[in-house]
Formats: sequence, C-alpha cells, structure tokens
Amino acid sequence: MNYLSTRGQAPKQSFLQILLGGLAPDGGLYLPETYPHFSAAELAFMRDMDYRQLAFTILSRLADDIEPDDLKALCDKTYTTDAYSHGRPDSDFSQITPLRKLEDGVFILELSNGPTLAFKDMAMQLLGNLFEYALDQAGQDINILGATSGDTGSAAEYAMRGKHNVRVFMLSPEHGMTRFQQAQMYSLQDANIFNIAVRGVFDECQDMVKAVSNDLEFKAKYRIGAVNSINWARVAAQVIYYFKAYFAVTTEAGQPVDFSVPSGNFGNVCAGHIARMMGLPIRELIVATNENDVLDEFFRTGVYRPRKSAETLHTSSPSMDISKASNFERFIYDLVGRDGAKVAELWRAVEAGESFDLNAAGLFAKVADFGFVSGSSSHADRLATIRMAWEKYATVIDTHTADGLKVGLEHREIGVPLVCLETALPAKFEDTIVEALGRKPERPAGLENIENLPRRVDLMDAEVAAVRAFVAHHAGD
Ligand SMILES: *Cc1c(COP(=O)(O)O)cnc(C)c1O
Repeated sequence: MNYLSTRGQAPKQSFLQILLGGLAPDGGLYLPETYPHFSAAELAFMRDMDYRQLAFTILSRLADDIEPDDLKALCDKTYTTDAYSHGRPDSDFSQITPLRKLEDGVFILELSNGPTLAFKDMAMQLLGNLFEYALDQAGQDINILGATSGDTGSAAEYAMRGKHNVRVFMLSPEHGMTRFQQAQMYSLQDANIFNIAVRGVFDECQDMVKAVSNDLEFKAKYRIGAVNSINWARVAAQVIYYFKAYFAVTTEAGQPVDFSVPSGNFGNVCAGHIARMMGLPIRELIVATNENDVLDEFFRTGVYRPRKSAETLHTSSPSMDISKASNFERFIYDLVGRDGAKVAELWRAVEAGESFDLNAAGLFAKVADFGFVSGSSSHADRLATIRMAWEKYATVIDTHTADGLKVGLEHREIGVPLVCLETALPAKFEDTIVEALGRKPERPAGLENIENLPRRVDLMDAEVAAVRAFVAHHAGD
C-alpha cells in the first residue's frame, strides 16, 4: 500500500515512511493510493472479532510494511481493557468502545474511556506504540513539539509518557483549559514529558510552535516532530471503531447505519468517510459543529469559508473551536475525483485567506453520494440536550457529545440505527454540566483529587526564543 499526496506532487511513500512526518512535501495530506476494500464475505467474517482482532485486520491493509507479527503485538499492547476502563462504572470495558443504548435505534459509542477521557486516546495510544516501534527500528529518537488548548496535548502526553525514544514539549495557554484538563497534564511526573504554560492565549502557543518548526536548521538539529490531527496513522486508527460500532448495532450484512460526529478538524468524521470507502455500509455521516460552523456551512451550501482566528468563537464545546478544518482536504480530494491539481488550486485560495465554492463545477452535488449531511448547535442547544439526555436517558453527556446528539437526532430516520460518537466524558467539562444540571458530573475512580496532585510545569512568556532555549536545553543529543 502506497500513500500519495492530496496535491499530487509528492513521491509515493509507505505507511512507516509517512508515520513520523506531517504534511507531504508539496503541502498536501497523505491518503492511500487506493482504498482497501472489504467484501461482504470479509465483513461477515469480521463481525465477531474483538477490538484487537479488528484493529489488526484493518490496519494490516493500511500498514502493510509492518511485519504482521509486530503489528499484531502492537494492536494487542494498545487496545487493552485496562487502558480503556476510565468511563462509567456500568460500561462493558472489554469492548474497548462499548455501545450505550439510549432508546431503540439511538446509541452512544463510548470512545472516551481512555486515560485522558476523550476520544483522542483511541488513536493516540496506538500512535505512541507505533512511534516507539518505528524509532527503535531506525535507531532514532524524536522531540515532539506541540500546542494544545486541551484534549490533544493531554492525549499525546499520556500516549508518549515513559517512551524511551520520545520527548514531548507541550505548550498550553496559562488560563486556557478547564481545571481538570490542566491537572491532567501538569500532574504527569514522567521525565520525558515537559509541560510549558504560556502567559498568553492558544493562538500565541500555536504561533510559537510554528515559528520553531519553520526553522529547518533547528528542526533537523533537535529532531523536532509533531503529532497533530493530520497525522495519517491517527486517522487510520479511528477507522477501526466505525467497524466495531457497525457490527455492534446490526445483525445482518448490508444494513445501513448513520453516524453523528462532533467535528472540529474533521479527523474523526474523515475516518468515517474512509471506513465507508473501505466497504462499510454507512448511510449518513452527520457532521455536527458548534457555533464555529465552517463545516456545517460547507455541507449546506457548497461554500468553504475558513474564518480568521480572531473570528473563532470561544464556546462551551472548546475542542471544536476551529477556524479551518485541517483534515477537510482529504475528503475534498476524493470529492473532486482525486484531482491533485484541483485540490492545490482550491487550497491556494484557502491559504490566501479566501473561500471556495464547489457549486459552479457541479462538484457540490456529489457530496450526497458520499453520505455527508450536517448541522450546528449553540450553547443553549447544548444545555438543553444535556438536560434531555439526563432526564430521558439517565445519562450525563459532555458538551461535545451533546452537539453530536442534537444534530444526529435532527437527521434520524426510523429503522436506521443512529450511532452518536461520544468524544469526551462530562468530567472534563464540569462547569457547563453544572450550568445544565445544577450539579457536578461524576468523576472516574482515581481522579477525584487530581487538582491537588503535585504539578510539573514551567511557566514562560509568549516568546519564541524562550521555547527554543528550553527545547535545546532538554532535547538531549
Ligand atoms: C478533538 C475533539 C473533537 C473534534 O474532533 P476532530 O477530529 O477534530 O473533528 C470533538 N470533541 C472532542 C471532545 C475533541 O477532543
């Protein structure tokens, strides 16, 4: 299996060759040259597999340059009941992604039972093990530099902690995360994890990371890497749970299923698109946004109009507060018939701060063929949905999951199972749960006192020179 770039101008590479990198050299994103396809007979065979077997079966098609025995070991090591057992006490953690029935035909897929209580653990835990494996083989190490406003940074740290050939330098805004999210990251004591709290906002953190990464000499000297959401292995890992959920809600081959996905950078729902391209009978992929509705606008109108970061609203589902959706280019590549030159042209406009409109060329009409629909949700909708889920289903859901449930129910068709992806546990976003329900959500066992644990974090001004000096000092050589 070879990977090509969505902009058509980069050499083809294998899975391991693109694992540690980010963008392709032509600025595009990597995708499989052709999607592997599971036949009806193969799907029937996969129906009774457990999560680890499914992971191996799917990933062995996408990462065929990893020795099968090694890949099997990596899947077995990653997807353990132990790692994914931080959710509600009545869930069946042996399923790794248990399904919770809300009512006939409506389900929540629990993706947030991993160590940081958000779905990013589903992919990041695998990435940690893949990085360690690939770096060992190459006899290399890496210094991961990133910026986070919450879920990504903590998922990366928990995935990489203790890995002997990886260090993580994670910048976060001093006041930009919930108390719980801060405590999760800053309480890690592992020697290879460096938390840097920046006196500034998230955008300043991100600009500092960009400035350091754009210095190619520094980047090469200190072996700087990233684990951002465009990383192909992360998308690939997310494909697995669509299959798992599909088999859990159906009994017969070919039955259609709808998925509702709280979306920001389009990584999660892009994995759903890829599962569909690989032969999974998904009817609708429901893209749910918050007030930052750049994706909803596209799927309603055919116009993609990325916002400026100053126009990005701070909402109560903060992990979906994005101005442009970094993985969206992957879907557009398929939508335009895999025409790399066309994608390059569209993204020249995006990079110049402009929008593009796919109506003219008749391309927008093709969106329906790929099953995409969308909707958005406001703070008031979020509160109402959290209350409804509590009163009607006796289930406390987080703010992002509420956006997905609200939009999912709007698109529901009786007779087609609707699976709403749970992207975080409510304990991560206590204040909004208190606002909706008048009480705090339950905390998973062992995390009751997380705010009081000793912290390991360095405070820094928003100055690029300070980050460079810090990384150079700790990066080892
Ligand atoms: C990252 C995240 C999202 C958005 O996922 P994308 O893959 O960026 O679309 C939604 N909810 C939560 C809780 C997240 O952490």
